[in-house]
Amino acid sequence: MRIDPHTHSTSSDGTDEPADVIRAAAREGLDVVGLADHDTTTGWAEASREAATVGLEFIPAVEVSTRHEGSSIHLLALWPREDPAFLSMLEKTRTARVDRARQIVSRLGEDFDLTWEGVVLKAVNAETIGRPHIADALVDLGVVPDRDAAFAELLATHSPYYVPHYAPKIEEAIVVVRSVGGVPVLAHPGAEGRTVVSDDLIADLARCGLAGLEVDHRDHSEAQKDRLSKVAGRLDLIRTGGSDYHGLGKQNRLGENLTSPEAYRLLIQARG
Ligand code: AMP
Ligand code: FE
Ligand code: FE
Ligand code: ZN
Repeated sequence: MRIDPHTHSTSSDGTDEPADVIRAAAREGLDVVGLADHDTTTGWAEASREAATVGLEFIPAVEVSTRHEGSSIHLLALWPREDPAFLSMLEKTRTARVDRARQIVSRLGEDFDLTWEGVVLKAVNAETIGRPHIADALVDLGVVPDRDAAFAELLATHSPYYVPHYAPKIEEAIVVVRSVGGVPVLAHPGAEGRTVVSDDLIADLARCGLAGLEVDHRDHSEAQKDRLSKVAGRLDLIRTGGSDYHGLGKQNRLGENLTSPEAYRLLIQARG
């Protein structure tokens, strides 16, 4: 069984439509695939219909933006019910993301020909706007060759153009995800250059209801995988892996990191 619970579509910042993610997953020989767009569930219906058509098991998921003391932390929510408490948490973040994207664009607009309209054109199918859409508009203008180059400087968190956005506290998000039957898993918790989540914070989050850690992820060094495996073992957290596929938007391939069938069984058991 080949299980990849972490992919993105045009509903957020991936470049494949939800049905295309599923078709690509079938071509890669995956058996189970999760669509985990940032802060939205809008891709689920199309993806789950296509999964039924091609005979693939579908996991409805969300990569929830959260914060801890000013740092951004991504939380995968697997199988959350679309109850108001969950949906309104996501909506609040999506609204804040629009404001924040406008601020980044207005800062960049002082030095480049970038306009808000140009960015909106890159996000026509997206329920959730993010820096990758701004990157795509910069690529169109010839300012940078690709998304990677945009993130290296202009859109990096240390850039003068960068603006953060509101997101719920990580503890609060875990409680909400559990309250709607979802299984909360920390996405890429050892990604250097993003936010590395400490052993102590992981222990606190385990007490709040965290179920697992995405250990196998392309942005993790061997040292981080080692550390996270040990923490998962000590705290009885489920060890997952995923591709974080974004279509053409990143170098990653579907199924390049997988969740084992044993871990998948534990995730299913953890569903509320
Ligand atoms: P945002 O959610 O607006 O803060 O933007 C962060 C998102 O940009 C992440 O979820 C990634 O999907 C994407 N991202 C981060 N780094 C890169 C990169 N180097 N190339 C392409 N996409 C990236
Ligand atoms: Fe993304
Ligand atoms: Fe992420
Ligand atoms: Zn992701």
